[in-house]
Amino acid sequence: MEKILLRNIENPDSADINEYIKAGGYKALLKALEFKPADIVGEVRKSGIRGRGGAGFPTGMKWAFASADPKKPRYILCNADEGEPGTFKDRPILEKNPHLLIEGMIISGYALEAEYGYIYLRGEYPAAKGILNAAVEQAYEKGYLGDNILGKGVRLHLSVHQGAGAYICGEETALIESLEGKRGQPRIKPPFPVNEGFLSKPTVINNVETLANIPYIIEIGADAYAAIGSPDCPGPKLFSVSGHVKRPGVYELPMGVSLRDIIYNHSGGILDDKKLKAVIPGGISTPILPADAIDCPMDFVNMPKHGSMLGSGAVMVFDETVDLVKICYRAIKFFEHESCGKCTPCREGVGWMRAILERISGGSGTAGDIDLLIEVSNNITGKTFCPLGDGAAMTAQNFIKHFRNEFEKKINNGSVKRAA
Ligand code: SF4
Repeated sequence: MEKILLRNIENPDSADINEYIKAGGYKALLKALEFKPADIVGEVRKSGIRGRGGAGFPTGMKWAFASADPKKPRYILCNADEGEPGTFKDRPILEKNPHLLIEGMIISGYALEAEYGYIYLRGEYPAAKGILNAAVEQAYEKGYLGDNILGKGVRLHLSVHQGAGAYICGEETALIESLEGKRGQPRIKPPFPVNEGFLSKPTVINNVETLANIPYIIEIGADAYAAIGSPDCPGPKLFSVSGHVKRPGVYELPMGVSLRDIIYNHSGGILDDKKLKAVIPGGISTPILPADAIDCPMDFVNMPKHGSMLGSGAVMVFDETVDLVKICYRAIKFFEHESCGKCTPCREGVGWMRAILERISGGSGTAGDIDLLIEVSNNITGKTFCPLGDGAAMTAQNFIKHFRNEFEKKINNGSVKRAA
């Protein structure tokens, strides 16, 4: 498939505006400015693109909700708080193709009649901060940003805001709180950000990859875009592949490619030709899959039918030597550390889960610990303020569902050791 999102990144100067323009960049913006804002919203809706941040909400529908709200000013925010363990797919866009993102934001801002935009950048991406700031400055110099974009009377001002390293700020309402200078904790929904977002005004928050798709939709048209990848989830998709594969990295492939194809074809198969044991297909909060369940199309509609979720498309591969109890423990420890503390089931419950897993993993688990872990996680599911608590519960539930024998083995071995 022709590279769209990673186009030109082999060029060492790909982040420079002149190189981007030389390669056809900012032409989609010129084309978009010939249309009415509502037509752009309609085109994005028709393209069928779903948000690439993990939830897969239809982008055009989100835009239409914000456009229908008469309150002004409206805001366009880019969620570049890429903090889900295993996920690094937005990084090449931020560092090597920043103008693709900026062009996507300008078109989105025009479509939404938003005059201000912010890129909320992950705290742990210091290199991207400098690159994005330089790119924004270049875009102002060339007249692509400002009060009168390309002399067309269109206004958009764009700033980069770096977070302080909290995973929860990737949740859209926590991101808004943080951007407003408050503690990064999720807000209750509704109202949704499309109606009451940044500074209580209509706000669209889209992921980096989603926004980077917008120029291409305008370039080739909604119908041609809709023909790429899965019929229900069209477009190109970035997959960040890590763990025990021969060629880890970021791959741009059509949405709907099979998980097996990603692992065995594009990523070169399992390191040292060992056996595959398990895969987490979409970042740490998506359900783990055993080795015999990887013939599934990677998109938002089909993955749930195969027992997992597409999430952010972060494929984490584990070979036969991996201690999955330890992986589960480390995942829950991460969630405990990142819990913002606002609601009790997550703040207390995830800590309980970590304590049980620490026992099992350390060889001092007891016979009832697996059922206790399931009970605690069941008591978190559906009772938390935001998806972090659910994600933690689901992680443990699925590890146990597919690999209960490994937990039992740890407990049995620990008991034998204690008895000796
Ligand atoms: Fe905070 Fe966890 Fe509750 Fe989300 S689920 S609001 S992270 S305490």
